[in-house]
Amino acid sequence: MPETVVLRRCYSCKTEKPLTDFYKNRALPLGHERQCIECHKKMNRTRKLRNRSKERSRIFSSNPENRAYLRAKSNKYMKLPEVRFKHNARQVVKRAIDTGKLIRPNRCSECGKSCIPQAHHYNGYDKKHRFDVIWPCRECHDLIHRLPDSVAERQAGVASGGMAG
Ligand SMILES: [Zn+2]
Ligand SMILES: [Zn+2]
Ligand SMILES: [Zn+2]
Repeated sequence: MPETVVLRRCYSCKTEKPLTDFYKNRALPLGHERQCIECHKKMNRTRKLRNRSKERSRIFSSNPENRAYLRAKSNKYMKLPEVRFKHNARQVVKRAIDTGKLIRPNRCSECGKSCIPQAHHYNGYDKKHRFDVIWPCRECHDLIHRLPDSVAERQAGVASGGMAG
């Protein structure tokens, strides 16, 4: 049997691996990379993919024709009434927060976890309901939009509460 194999904890996957599973790197104090070879490859792959898609969109939008296409597409999208309402409603809420008219709580109104919650328009994005917001965290907000039934129920509750005043 060979004598003790030196194990090293990989910085990313936190697994103890023999030094042979790490790339040598003389520039580093320990003479080896902090990540195991597997993690190193994984990281390189994601980085490459990310760069490639970034590069592709850069090339695409460097062509004026494509830029016009993108602009037209986004204009068309913004012309859809529900999109515009949604966009406007968000802008209004953002401005209201900035000017102190609306106070963004520091916890989720649904699960209570402390976070920077998002404004959810439970009455829809109509002009008169612009300030009808609750403050779910990202996860709860996601859930609200994915489970419209439970929202309808909630909306009824919240709306009747709000209407009382
Ligand atoms: Zn690793
Ligand atoms: Zn939550
Ligand atoms: Zn929402």
